[in-house]
Amino acid sequence: MKAVAVFPGKPNSIHLADLPEPSVDDIPDGRSVLVEVSRVGVDGTDKEINDAEYGDAPEGYDFLVTGHESFGRVLEVGPNVQGIQPGDYVVATVRRPGTTIYDQIGTYDMTTDATYFERGINLLHGYLTERYVDDLEYMVRVPAALKEVGVLLEPTSIAEKGVEQAYEIQRRLKVWRPQRAAVVGAGTLGLLATLILRLRGLEVTTLARTEPPTLNSELVEALGARYVSTRRKPLKEAAREYGSFDIIFEATGASLLAFESMEVLGKNGVLVLTGISGGDRMVEIPGDHIMLGFVLGNKVAVGSVNANRTHFEHGVQDMALAEAYYPGWLARLLTHPVQGLDNYEEMIRLLTEEKSAIKVFIER
Ligand code: BGC
Ligand code: ZN
Repeated sequence: MKAVAVFPGKPNSIHLADLPEPSVDDIPDGRSVLVEVSRVGVDGTDKEINDAEYGDAPEGYDFLVTGHESFGRVLEVGPNVQGIQPGDYVVATVRRPGTTIYDQIGTYDMTTDATYFERGINLLHGYLTERYVDDLEYMVRVPAALKEVGVLLEPTSIAEKGVEQAYEIQRRLKVWRPQRAAVVGAGTLGLLATLILRLRGLEVTTLARTEPPTLNSELVEALGARYVSTRRKPLKEAAREYGSFDIIFEATGASLLAFESMEVLGKNGVLVLTGISGGDRMVEIPGDHIMLGFVLGNKVAVGSVNANRTHFEHGVQDMALAEAYYPGWLARLLTHPVQGLDNYEEMIRLLTEEKSAIKVFIER
């Protein structure tokens, strides 16, 4: 069976590998689900994996099958599976439990283990293949009405977790009625965060470098949010005009913006950092200012990575709500389909070079 893989540690090693056919018997407890892959999305993490900045091969392999944003259809289930049947559409979560207390209660996204296991990213094969099998525990059902956009569920789960973390943290305030939000970044994650915050009724300002009009700026405005090009109006200026922000969702991975966000965050506000800053850049920041503002303003900053099954489930609910409020909006994010696993080179090219791409994905 075909799979798209890299040799970890070797830059630009993406190639077609051969995997043994999976079977429901591969998992011993009878709770296995065998899935036919229909679509797999790619993102910055896949780019970093192909650049050999990230990711190790599973034990016994010299390659790692990539792809963590899955969407597929159930082919067969084990004898102890209930609630999912052949023909159902499913998305699988990414991380698998490690050894800590957090892993044991289903919150493997909060593991404190030094090494983590993530399908398609680290130590476990991913979904850029024809079929895969996994435990029912990690399978999230997607209604057929969302089958055209289901491949966006994994990135939605990341945005969902970030926003949920913010609300959870703000319970410290006894009463929190957020009104204004800023989203920094208008890529897939920034757009999905904008959507989720709009669905919660907030006034949202989404900032990105590129000057409008672009598809990204149009998508922001289609949600009734405000798009700001930081080339025309830097974050600080935008905050003076449209703040103060009760919540800022950072989705760029540009560390300087993280610190600027801390500076412009409103009193009692919460900043959620989700961008994965791969480099080792040094930045100059007004440290005293930021610290003083944080202390005198009772502000919070939180990092948020990965997502567990509840975030995927809430993602399904919000995607359904999105179709009700903003019909067709989600599908507009799926800008660059690539036909078949054989075209992995085109997939990587679009991922690295195509500036207008929002979501590049393989369609089988
Ligand atoms: C994935 C997450 C993962 C993170 C770090 C992201 O691209 O969407 O599931 O935890 O990379 O590996
Ligand atoms: Zn990802």
